Amino acid sequence: MASINKNFLNLKESYLFSDIAKKVDAFTAANPDKTVVRLGIGDVTRPLVPAVVAAMHKAVDEMGDAATFRGYGPEQGYGFLHEAVQGYYKSFGVTLDSDEIFISDGAKSDVANITDLFDQANIVLVPDPVYPVYVDTNIMNGRKIVYLDANEENGFLPMPPSDVKADMVYLCSPNNPTGATYNYEQLKAWVDYANANGAVILYDAAYESFITEDGLPRSIFEIEGAKTCAIEFCSLSKLASFTGTRCGYTVVPKALTFAVDGKDVVLNKLWLRRQTTKFNGVPYIIQRGAAAVFTDEGLAQIRENIGFYQENARIIAETLDELGITYYGGVNSPYIWLKCPNGMKSWEFFDYLLENAAVVGTPGSGFGKNGEGYFRLTSFNNHENTREAMARVKALLKK
Ligand code: PLP
Repeated sequence: MASINKNFLNLKESYLFSDIAKKVDAFTAANPDKTVVRLGIGDVTRPLVPAVVAAMHKAVDEMGDAATFRGYGPEQGYGFLHEAVQGYYKSFGVTLDSDEIFISDGAKSDVANITDLFDQANIVLVPDPVYPVYVDTNIMNGRKIVYLDANEENGFLPMPPSDVKADMVYLCSPNNPTGATYNYEQLKAWVDYANANGAVILYDAAYESFITEDGLPRSIFEIEGAKTCAIEFCSLSKLASFTGTRCGYTVVPKALTFAVDGKDVVLNKLWLRRQTTKFNGVPYIIQRGAAAVFTDEGLAQIRENIGFYQENARIIAETLDELGITYYGGVNSPYIWLKCPNGMKSWEFFDYLLENAAVVGTPGSGFGKNGEGYFRLTSFNNHENTREAMARVKALLKK
C-alpha cells in the first residue's frame, strides 16, 4: 500500500483570501447600491508593455515557420535571455556568469522547489509576518521552522539572531506584506551571519523594481560575501506585468558550496541537475517577451507602469499621513502596511472599512502572528479607484 507524505497533514488551511471573498460577497449582496473598491489585490493591473507584445508576436511568427520553429529549449533558459538579465544586473553593479542564471516560470515555483536541494534536518529561519510559500513548502518537507519577529521595534526588518544558528534563512526585500526594505548595512549583517554559520540565504527580490530611494540594494549580490551564501529569486511578475504570462529567474552563484565528505559540492550544479530533471523550460515566446523587458525601450515602458503604481502608493501614503496613521512601505514597494487605528485588530478593521467605506484591504494577521493589528493596502488598482478609496477612508477616520 502506498503511504503519503504525512507532512502535508501538518499544513494549516489558508482561509485568508477565501474569507475576504466571502465577506465581500455578503456585503455586496446586502448593499447592492454600494460600489466596493479593492485595495487588497496583490496582482498587477497594467497590461504588458508594447515592446514585450511586439517581441512575443514576432516569436509567434517564428514558431509558425518551419525555418525558425523551435521545440524543446534549454531547461535553464535561452542564452539571449541570460544576456538580458546579465545586462540588467550590471546596471546595479553585479556581474553574473550566464550559467549562474536559471530562467523559470516565476519566483513562486523556484522559492518552493529550491527546498529539494536541502536536507530535512536543516533549521529554517522565517520572518513573521511572511509570504506563506516559505513556510508551507518547508512544512511539506517536514523541516523545523523558527520564526523571527518582524515588528514595529525593528521597523519590520529583523536582524540576525544571536541565539539561533539557522541553516536556511528566508529574506524578502522589499517585503511582502510589510513593504519594509533592507539597506546595505543590514543585508551585510545577514550575509556575515550566513557565512559565519554556513547558512544559506534564500533571498526573494520579487519587488526589487519598486525600489526608488538611493542607498538600498536591488540585489543581495551587491553585498560583499553574498556569492558564497545566497541564492536570489526574481520575477517579471511585478516588474513587467508577467503575473499571467509567467517568467522569472533564479541566481545560484557558483561560489556557493557545501562540504560533503571532505569535498565541496557546488549548489549551482545540483540546481542544474534538479531543473534539467524536473523542468522543461519556459516557452520560447515568453522568453522573447521577457528579453524585450530588458531593452532600453522595454525598461522605459515598464518604468511608466511602475511609476503608475507608485503614484497610487503616494496617494495612499498622503492620506495616511493626514490621518496620522503609522505605516511602512509604499515608497519602495507596492505594499502599504498600516497600523490599524484605535487599537483595532486586523479583522476588526477589515469589517469596519468594508461596512462603513466599502473599501477592501488585507488583514495583516493573515501573514503571521506579528501581523495582528496591521493591515495591507496595495497600489495595484487604478488612480481613480485608489483616490476614491482613500477619500472614503479619510471621511471615515477623520471623525
Ligand atoms: N515572492 C513574493 C514575496 C511574492 O509576493 C510573490 C507573488 O505575489 C511571489 C514571490 C511570486 O511571484 P511569481 O509570480 O513570480 O511566481
